[in-house]
Order: sequence, then structure tokens, then C-alpha cells
Amino acid sequence: MTARKTALVCGAGGFIGSHLVRRLKHEGYWVLGVDLKYPEFSDTAADEFVKGDLRDQTMCKGVLDRPYDEVYQLAADMGGAGYIFTGDHDADVMHNSATINLNIAERARLCGVKKVFYSSSACMYPAYNQEDPDNPKCSEDSAYPAAPDSEYGWEKLFSERLYLAYRRNHGLCVRIARFHNIFGPEGTWHGGREKAPAALCRKVAEAADGGRIEIWGDGKQTRSFLYIDECLEAVRRLMQSDFTGPVNVGSQEMISINEFARMVIRISGKTLAIKNIDGPIGVRGRTSDNALIHTALGWTPSMPLEEGMRRTYSWIAEQVSLAAPMRSAALGGASLPILSAV
Ligand code: NAD
Repeated sequence: MTARKTALVCGAGGFIGSHLVRRLKHEGYWVLGVDLKYPEFSDTAADEFVKGDLRDQTMCKGVLDRPYDEVYQLAADMGGAGYIFTGDHDADVMHNSATINLNIAERARLCGVKKVFYSSSACMYPAYNQEDPDNPKCSEDSAYPAAPDSEYGWEKLFSERLYLAYRRNHGLCVRIARFHNIFGPEGTWHGGREKAPAALCRKVAEAADGGRIEIWGDGKQTRSFLYIDECLEAVRRLMQSDFTGPVNVGSQEMISINEFARMVIRISGKTLAIKNIDGPIGVRGRTSDNALIHTALGWTPSMPLEEGMRRTYSWIAEQVSLAAPMRSAALGGASLPILSAV
């Protein structure tokens, strides 16, 4: 009989981490999850879950105490445009995420972890290659000369290099993916840290039929978005391969934000106008370049964006209707402004 594989998921209370735990359990792993918080929208599927702060070295020592087959490092201080691009959280984002990664790389080495996955981000790509909304360049070899448009992106680049240095100098087996806008049910959908797909779904779900929603920027900025299940398939393939990365994990179905808003409005069945207003938006254009991952892992996403957004809208509309009576009571019946990260 072969022993069950063991995995530690750091950031297991977050959006991608909680879905990943479910996937690993489904594949037969024994899983320990760790996070500052439990998953918000469903029970964790992990065999054990430790609530703790990975910036704390003693805490890290407590969970990274054995030679796991796989460690997935997803914990980060992050959010959507409203969190990353205002500049208000730069010191926290850099300090918190870098400290987590420094701790995990060192503990993984000391306790003989067999393989470490690190979730980097498309935000590490240079801003100068993403000024044309119709023709952004995000191939893996375009990372240097480095010029990310946010401190979040700089930290991701630093930590990629950290894990690669541990690989070179200490033989740590690492796999690095650069995620491009992952979305789906059970992600943050309000509160200021939500990302564009969830923010749009919430705005549309909250708007009265015949009303309007506000979109940050002129709406001509472009992005692509990858559904959570597809992301996990790519992560699992990367972990099973001999390919270290860094490699893009994203979709090439690029869409302008106004077009994206029209898609969500269509899904909702409502009639809504769009008003473009000033707000933090990041680069003008960004999409994944999947040439390398296709060659290295034979992976290409298959789900159309609209199908993923149908599933996500349906989940967020349900959250909005569940929350409505509580919010209305808190406001004494007044309506809420519709403003958040897109
Ligand atoms: P998330 O915010 O839902 O999950 C991150 C988790 O890390 C949170 O649950 C948070 O509580 C936890 N965390 C933060 N600080 C911690 C600490 N000090 N100790 C323990 N836990 C801590 O984000 P997500 O969307 O699930 O993203 C997961 C990873 O993927 C992150 O590293 C993120 O930067 C990266 N990423 C995500 C996307 C995306 O579109 N979702 C895109 C690019 C990169």
C-alpha cells in the first residue's frame, strides 16, 4: 500500500487556497491548512486547520515541522485595484507578504519539504509593456528590465527570486506560477479587497433594474480572467511536472472592462447603464501569454469567460440577497453607494 501524500496549504482560508484544499482532498491527499482566518463561505475540507500568522517564525516552525510532499504557498496580503493601486497599503503589502515568504522558504529547506509551489502574479510584469490595451506583452521572458506598476508586483518578483535562489543554493524543489486574475464562487465580493469580476457581479446584483453601475476608469482598459477550476488544473499539472517556471497561468480571452460589465449585465437579465468614473485601474492592458505553459505542460484553458461568469454571478447574487436585509437594517433603510475595485 502506498502512503497518502501530505500537503500543507498556506493561505487555506482564502479564495484559491480553500478551493485548492478541496481539490487535494479529492485527489486523496492528507492536508493541513493554515491561515489567519477560516474560509468565509464554507467549511474547510482540510484534515487539520491551524489559525495563525505566517509572519511569525514560531508559528511557521509549528506548521512546517515535517517533510511534506508538497507545500502550496498562497498566503499574501492582497486585494483588488482598490487595495493595491491606491498606495495606502504599500508598506503592509510588501512587509507582510515578504516576511511570509522568507519564513516559508527557510522552514521548507530546514524540514526537507519535497516540493514548494509559489503563487506569483501577472502584476510583476513591466508596466511599459502594458500601455496599449489591444496589444499587451506578458510573455515570461518579458519580465526584465523589471518595472511592475505596484509594490504588490515588486514583492511578487522579489519572492519569485527568493524561491529560485533557494533552489540554486539549497536544492529546494520549487514550482512558480504567475496567476492572471483568477475568479469564481467563494471569493471576496465586498469590503474593499474584491477584484474586478466579483466587484462587477456585486454592483450588477445590487443595482435596481433600469438603474446604472459605476466603473473605474474609461472602461477601455483590457484584462483576461481565469476560472478557479482551470487554475487548479494548471497548478496540479505544474506540480506533477519537472518544469520549475515561472509560468503564466491565465486565459488569453481578453476583454475591455466596459465589455465585461455588459457581459455581466446580460447574464443578470437587467437593463443597466454604465457610468465611467475616476478610480484606480492599474495598467491599460493585460492578458496571459500561454505559449510556454502549452508547450511545457500541454495545458490550455477550455471554459469560455461567460460560462465562468454565469456561475460566479449566480453565487454573488445569492450572497447579495442574503446580505440585503442585514445591510438595510444597519442603514435604517438607506441605499448603499456602488463603488469598489474594478
Ligand atoms: P486571498 O486573499 O483570498 O487569500 C490569501 C490568504 O492569505 C487570505 O486568506 C489571508 O488571510 C491569508 N494571509 C494573509 N496574510 C497572512 C498571514 N500573515 N498569515 C497567514 N495567512 C495570511 O487571495 P487569493 O485570491 O486566494 O490569492 C492566493 C494567492 O494567489 C496570493 O498569493 C495572491 O497574491 C496570488 N494571486 C491571486 C490572483 C487572483 O486573481 N486571485 C492573481 C494573482 C496572484
